[in-house]
Amino acid sequence: MPLFSEVPPSPAADNGVASGNGKGRAAATFAARLTFENVTRDYDATQALAGVDLDIAPAEIVCLLGPSGCGKTTLLRIAAGIEKPTAGRVLINGLEVAGPARFVAPEDRGVGLMFQDFALFPHLTILGNVAFGLKALPKAEARREALAALKRVGLAHLADAYPHILSGGQQQRVALARAIVPRPAVMLMDEPFSGLDVQLRDAMQEETLSLLRETRATSVIVTHNPEEAMRIGDRIAVMRAGRLVQAGSAEALYHEPADLFVARLFSEINEIGYRVGSAGIDTPIGVLRAPSLAAGTRATVCIRERGVHLSRNGAGLSGRVLDVKFLGDVARLEVGVEGFDKALKVRARESEGWARGDEVRAQIDPASALVFPDESQK
Ligand code: ATP
Repeated sequence: MPLFSEVPPSPAADNGVASGNGKGRAAATFAARLTFENVTRDYDATQALAGVDLDIAPAEIVCLLGPSGCGKTTLLRIAAGIEKPTAGRVLINGLEVAGPARFVAPEDRGVGLMFQDFALFPHLTILGNVAFGLKALPKAEARREALAALKRVGLAHLADAYPHILSGGQQQRVALARAIVPRPAVMLMDEPFSGLDVQLRDAMQEETLSLLRETRATSVIVTHNPEEAMRIGDRIAVMRAGRLVQAGSAEALYHEPADLFVARLFSEINEIGYRVGSAGIDTPIGVLRAPSLAAGTRATVCIRERGVHLSRNGAGLSGRVLDVKFLGDVARLEVGVEGFDKALKVRARESEGWARGDEVRAQIDPASALVFPDESQK
C-alpha cells in the first residue's frame, strides 16, 4: 500500500503551487527564502550560537548536522520564533522576523514545526491534532483540509481515533500531516526520524522527502546522522560549538571537507601525524603539498579506509594483512604497509577474500589524501 494515498484536489489548495505529479495534491505553498544573519544566542554563561550565517534558498532542503549541544535545536527554535536571538537577524523572504527592528510571533511567520517526539495532543483525536493549526478556517473547511492531509499520509481511516493507539511510524506521519497542513512556507524539523527503527526510518525519510518536494516548503531538518543528512539534504550545514563549520552539498563536504572534524563525519579515515617540510609533507605515497601550512608545524594526513586498494601483485607499496573483520558486504582490514609506522585500516569488498597473513600491494592515490593542521595546535 502506498504510504501517501491519492487525495482529490481541494478548492482551498488553489492559492498555492500545484504539485503536478499525479499523486494528488498535498498542501501547497509559495517557497520562501530563509536567512540567518550573524545569529547569536547566549544563555547565561553558555553561548549556544556564536554568529551563524546561513542563507537557504526557496524550496531548498538543508540538514543541520552536528554533535549534541552544538546549537542545532536553538537555531531551529529561533527560526520558529520560540526563542529570540541575543544578536543577529532572521529573515523570511528578506523580511526581518527576528532582530533589532522586529519580532514576528511564531504563528505569523508561516513556519511549520515538527519535534523529535512528535508532540501529539493526547486529548485530541488524530483529525483534531491535524486540524489544530487550521483554527483560522471555518470548522468544516478545516476538517476537510485535515482529512485530505491524513489521506495524504495514508491514515484517514484513523481520523477519529486518539494518538495513544498509534505506532511510532504512524505518529510521525500524523505529526507530518499536522505540520504540513497549514501550508507553511518554511518547514522546521527537529530530528524527525530519530525515534523510528531502521527500516521504518528509511521509508519515512523517502516519504517525507517526497512530501517536502511536492509542497516546495523550504526545509531545515536537524539530524545527528551524517548518512541521513547526505540522503535528505540538498545541502548540509555542519555545526560545532555554536558555529557553522561548513555548508555545502554532500559531494562537496565529502571531497573537500573544511577541517578534520567534517572529514571524520563523512568517511572513515586513517589519521597520520607528520611534520611539514619545506617542500611539503614527505609520506610513503609521495610528497603531499600543504601550501597553507608552515614548514616545521605538525599536520594530520588523512587516508580514507576506502581509498586504499589492495591487490596480490599489482602496483603499490608492499604490505601484509594483519587482521580481517567481516562486516557483511565489506571487510575491514588492518594492513601493515611499508613506510607507515602504524597499520592502516582498509575497507575492501568481502568478495576479494583477504585473510590474515596475506602479502599484498597497497595502492593509495596521493590526490585522495586530505591534509589538515594538527588539531592540537589550534
Ligand atoms: P542535541 O543534538 O543534543 O539536541 P543541539 O545541537 O540541538 O543538541 P542545543 O539544544 O541547541 O544543541 O543547545 C546548545 C547549547 O545551549 C547547549 O550547551 C545547551 O545546554 C544550551 N542551552 C540550550 N537551551 C538552553 C536553555 N534554555 N537554557 C540554558 N542553556 C541552554
